[in-house]
Parts: sequence; C-alpha cells; structure tokens
Amino acid sequence: MAPLHELVGNVHMHTPYSDGEASHADIAHAARAAGLDFVIVTDHNVLVKGVEGYYGDDESGHVLLLTGEEVHDRTRLPQCNHMLIFGASRELTACANDPQQLIDAAEKAGGLSFLAHPHDQPLTAFKEPAIPWLDLHVQRFTGLEIWNYMSAFKGILNRSTRVQQVRAAFRPEDFMVGPPPETLALWDDLLGKGRRVVGIGGSDAHGTTFRVGPLEHVVFPYDYLFSGVNLHVLAPQPLSGDAQTDAAMIYRALRAGNAFIGYDLLGSTRGFRFSATGQSNSTIMGGSIRLGPGVTLQALAYERSHFKLVRHGQVVAEATGRENLTHTATRSGAYRVEVWREYRGQERAWILSNPIYVEDSAYTAR
Ligand SMILES: [Zn+2]
Ligand SMILES: [Zn+2]
Repeated sequence: MAPLHELVGNVHMHTPYSDGEASHADIAHAARAAGLDFVIVTDHNVLVKGVEGYYGDDESGHVLLLTGEEVHDRTRLPQCNHMLIFGASRELTACANDPQQLIDAAEKAGGLSFLAHPHDQPLTAFKEPAIPWLDLHVQRFTGLEIWNYMSAFKGILNRSTRVQQVRAAFRPEDFMVGPPPETLALWDDLLGKGRRVVGIGGSDAHGTTFRVGPLEHVVFPYDYLFSGVNLHVLAPQPLSGDAQTDAAMIYRALRAGNAFIGYDLLGSTRGFRFSATGQSNSTIMGGSIRLGPGVTLQALAYERSHFKLVRHGQVVAEATGRENLTHTATRSGAYRVEVWREYRGQERAWILSNPIYVEDSAYTAR
C-alpha cells in the first residue's frame, strides 16, 4: 500500500454570513493555533465565495480554508433536514425543499452530501428546537454526520438537571461521552443493507453563547472545538500548497471514506489506522475487499485503549488495554472500528473509523 498522508481537519462551522460569530480569517487563525491542516466552513444556505485558500505564514503555519454550505428548507416548520454540502461548484439552496433533489443536485455539481445531526434533540430551557433529519427514505447521499459536537452537547444538556447544566457549561469534557447511539445504529443499519455511507464528525462551531441560570454566558470558542471532534483524512499525497489541487484531493479521500473521526481532546488520535488484507490485495478504511477464504482486519492506535470491531451493529471482536486489534473476518459485511479510552473516570469514544467493506456474492456495498 502506498504511504498515506494524514490531514487533520475540522468541518461544519458558521460565520456571520449565517449565525456564527467569527470571520473566515478568525476561523483560520484559530485552526492554525489548534494545529489543523484544513477547515470546511458551512454557513446556512449560502456558499460564500472568494474566501477559500491558504491562510497563515511560514512562521505560524498554514491552514487550508474551504467553504461548503449547510442547506435546509427555511419554510418547513418545525425545522429539520439540515444537509452539509462540501465541494459543490454552485449554491444549492434552491433545491432545499426536496431532500432527494438536493442530494442529486449536489452530486451533479461535484459535491458531497451529508445528513447533518440526524438525531438532534430539543433544548427547551434555551428555546432551542430539535433539528433532526426526518426524511430517511433518501438515497445516494455521501454519508452521515455521526458526531456533531454541539448537537451532542445539546443532548447532554437536555438530559441534565439545572445544576448539571451549569457544571457541563464549565467543563463540557466531563460530560461528553460520544456520539448519539441512535446515529451509530442508523449508520450500522444502512451499512448492513449494503449502502456505502461515509461517517464524518464536525464541531458545528458558532461561537455560541449559552445562558445558564445566574451565569451571564458561557462560550464555546472555535479553538476549543477545533481541539475536539476532528476529521482525519488519509490522503495519497501531502498537501501541495495549491488550494484547488489540495481541496480536490481532500474531497476525493472523503468521498471514498478514507477518513476517521478523532476526539482529539482526549489525546491526539493521529496515527490511527484501520486496514484489511486479503488473499491478493489490501485496503484501508473506506475501501472494499473480496472475502475469499478470509480477510485479516487490523486496527492500530498509539495508546492502550479499548477497541471494538463492529459489523452491522454487533461487536464481533474486542481488545482492552491494547494498542491494536486483529481479527480474521470469515463473513462478508461492513466492518468499522470504535476506540474508547478512559478520561476523568469514564470511558469515552476516542476514535470512530469508516468501514471496510468485505464483499462476496451475498454482500456488495454500493
Ligand atoms: Zn444544522
Ligand atoms: Zn450547523
């Protein structure tokens, strides 16, 4: 296998072009400070042009800022069906009232489409409505936003008492455990049906201000979120410095699912790998491989942790206190890895890989 170049990015965030606080330049600055290689800014129903490119200098480092959009039908109440679109050549809000049409239009414009925060919950005390994905009959989308940090945090507050909410606002990392189990279950269900579904994680950074009881406000700054739920992309080449070339490479790798979600706040997830070796070839996360007499799946991380190999919602292999997991698959299907590790007395999701599709005549992913 050719060597891979790991690019760490943060996707799904807002600027004053919709309801966010920080400008594109401010976001680039925060991203550089967090050591990210790229960010994808996605304002609501607007594809902001003219801001894409490399930001920074040789001293502080460079970051590639890309823009996509988060599209929804503003006339549909209550709100639902937010879709993240990356890499499309044109603005697509005009298609928002028909999710399938939107997915197909994004594809036609060369873009990737992800169902955003599919199991979002309401936050009654803050008058924040739930914004889930409702139209689950849709086809041909690139993937699911498995772990949206701000949406998961909303879910935490929704389940908490007033006192817990105040504590959570000050120390969110004590409360964050992982993505919504319902979203993982939806992913596994689609994978089990032979659908290719790319999982991504995002921050949904807005620079949000929460008012909790007597507290004036507690802000989730962009730089905090950029050290949280990140998207690690495995690219065939290092970044070239040419924004267009590099954007195309990142989008190609993402479309192929050559990526994993890393909750880097618990410790850097850089270096995680998940690969499969069969009779005559091998592949990495996102790829397909023929089952043959058996396929060896291997996952590696750089800390002793708790690995789970999941096939269609079932844990088929597990390793605790280890830096790797190896399993010989004798059944076809989509296999993905979760790595959990302890932080402040509780086990939390640390790494979520994209699946490897082990195929035979009974199971082919498309
Ligand atoms: Zn949204
Ligand atoms: Zn958003």
